[in-house]
Amino acid sequence: AIPLVIAISTERAARSGVLVKNRLALERMRTVDTVLFDKTGTLTQGRLTLLGHAAVRGVSDDELLALAAAVESDSEHPIARAVTAAHDGPLPAVRDFATLPGRGVEAKVGGRTVHVGGPALLSELGLSEPAELAETTRGWQQQAASVLHVVSDGRVIGALAVADEIRPGARAAIDALHARGVQVAMVTGDAQHVADAVAAELGIDEVFAQVLPADKHAKVAELQARGRKVAFTGDGLNDGPALAQADVGIAIGAGTDVAMESAGVVLASDDPRSVVSVIELSRASYRKMQ
Ligand code: ADP
Ligand code: MG
Repeated sequence: AIPLVIAISTERAARSGVLVKNRLALERMRTVDTVLFDKTGTLTQGRLTLLGHAAVRGVSDDELLALAAAVESDSEHPIARAVTAAHDGPLPAVRDFATLPGRGVEAKVGGRTVHVGGPALLSELGLSEPAELAETTRGWQQQAASVLHVVSDGRVIGALAVADEIRPGARAAIDALHARGVQVAMVTGDAQHVADAVAAELGIDEVFAQVLPADKHAKVAELQARGRKVAFTGDGLNDGPALAQADVGIAIGAGTDVAMESAGVVLASDDPRSVVSVIELSRASYRKMQ
């Protein structure tokens, strides 16, 4: 039988949009001293927009955007949506599309192999940014945008910038966690400068940037190895292992199926402040039991 207090608290939890999948997770939440947030889609809206694009090496800006949009048309990443939404008109045909997790995408367009991706893609291809692009991309970086390069047959032919917005409740959530003595960390596959800008705006204590999807859970383990009790909060497809590794895995915004499966707690709302509600619920419920 389910003890009465827990039955009551899970019902109260459900009313506030907190679905407790694992009651031990709710109990552990009151001892959590660190919340590790995924950035994109969790602390930010995850609805990216194209801020600008610039071509070099005789390619026109329109041609660059059409190529990038063609390659991105098979990707489900929020970056892909930003790029395809910014282009109208017919797209060149693509084949052999592939995702390079944490780095970008690639496909064949006409006779060419085209890549679109971030800093990890360029270093993997052994390429660097052409000098003509440096000033433009520095300007984008100062606006905290993510910069992507477009590569055609091993030559960088231009760059794109995409930007995201911080969720309205994010700053208040982090302040409320700090007020309860909880440290806040953030993990992202995005570039260091974007991560640092978000962290500075939100008052985040520790940042892990350019982390490959498969390595997110290792950051949870790294914090645990330092003796921290960690709640991981994420929405993404790639978050399953990190949610499972954490002392408490919290899937936000009723995320993806994988996230829901691996999480101990699922939040109906995508407001980061609902993480604070989980702590409050846990502290209130288990205080009553003692
Ligand atoms: P996060 O979920 O933290 O945004 P991802 O692992 O999904 O991280 O992506 C990390 C980085 O990989 C992105 O910031 C970008 O540089 C690159 N990337 C991923 N997917 C794409 C894509 N579809 N197009 C271009 N770049 C991409
Ligand atoms: Mg993601």
